[in-house]
Amino acid sequence: MRVYLDHNATSVLRPEARAAMMLALNAGGNASSVHEEGRDARAMIEAARSTVARALGTIAPTVIFTSGGTEAANQAVRCAPVERIIVCAVEHPCVLEAAKQTGKPVEAVPVDANGVVDLQALKAALQGAGGKALVCVMLANNETGVIQPVREVVDLAQAHQALVFCDAVQALGKIPVNFALLGVDMLSISAHKLGGPQGAGALVVRDGLQMPALIVGGGQELRRRAGTENIAAISGFAAAVEASANDTVDLSAMRDEIEAAVLAGPGEVVVFGSSAQRLPNTLCFALPGLEADTALIGFDLEGVAVSSGSACSSGKVATSHVLEAMGVSERALKGAVRVSLGWNSTREHVDRFLEVWQRIAERHMAQASAA
Ligand code: PLP
Repeated sequence: MRVYLDHNATSVLRPEARAAMMLALNAGGNASSVHEEGRDARAMIEAARSTVARALGTIAPTVIFTSGGTEAANQAVRCAPVERIIVCAVEHPCVLEAAKQTGKPVEAVPVDANGVVDLQALKAALQGAGGKALVCVMLANNETGVIQPVREVVDLAQAHQALVFCDAVQALGKIPVNFALLGVDMLSISAHKLGGPQGAGALVVRDGLQMPALIVGGGQELRRRAGTENIAAISGFAAAVEASANDTVDLSAMRDEIEAAVLAGPGEVVVFGSSAQRLPNTLCFALPGLEADTALIGFDLEGVAVSSGSACSSGKVATSHVLEAMGVSERALKGAVRVSLGWNSTREHVDRFLEVWQRIAERHMAQASAA
């Protein structure tokens, strides 16, 4: 039995999403065509848009479908009508790199030891000169699961006429995400983090905010994102969003059980972000001295898929800028293991994970005391 506990990297495709994708693939048609096949394709996209919009507490025209969370963040950051950008230090690279690419002044606001944005520092950054600002704050962090006080960030930003972009990619499907209640100007989501297909996502843009296209060409998505729509992926995305609303599995109970067990187990385990509000599915911890790649390989060999702090696209474990920003010691930082549960996680998965962890941690402690 393989045990997959890496849902923050990508979740497992839900049967509802697979079924919706097969329907769309079999139907065919280009949503821009005027014939019946085209009109049917258009109807599928608009149905998906309404589903996603309803789940987010917004209206359908505010939802722009994209190729995923990265593209949505790139559009928000690179196309927003602002003169400068303020980012939270723990944002995903798709935000940090996009901000750099703009050539506009970029200021990074620090976080505290729990990974929560420093609101005083944000206030000071907003008061700085340089024109209208865009504040980028994620709803939940992919590595630690730490939830940011987005509503407070919005209040501060609005007092300084700044715009706010919120990366809600990791939050959707795990905690309530309501665009209207958050009060942000733009918000990004991604299908594959909640059991939809990879390669689909959306940027939600507040009604009345003019958002130029990042990808230009045809007039799709109300001229805000050119390119023939990936109807199967969009349909699978909407089906996953709908299905996630009916999830009954208690992820926080399982996560808490894992957390309590690793803390009570061998060595002095450190849990990152433990005093902050966190996603119910995420646990990031380290046994200082035990390197993450050693732990990951040990888990993998015994059939358990987890990851280090952040999944690196090159496949190798890189130092986490998130844990660095939290001031985590070098020794602990190198050992960060991330466990992320998802819609198909079970008690057996938890038991298996803990059984393997016990062996890995005991082996490490024995080696450390022998050295
Ligand atoms: N933002 C966060 C917080 C993420 O965790 C990820 C995925 O790792 C992304 C954005 C990028 O989303 P996508 O994989 O859909 O491009």
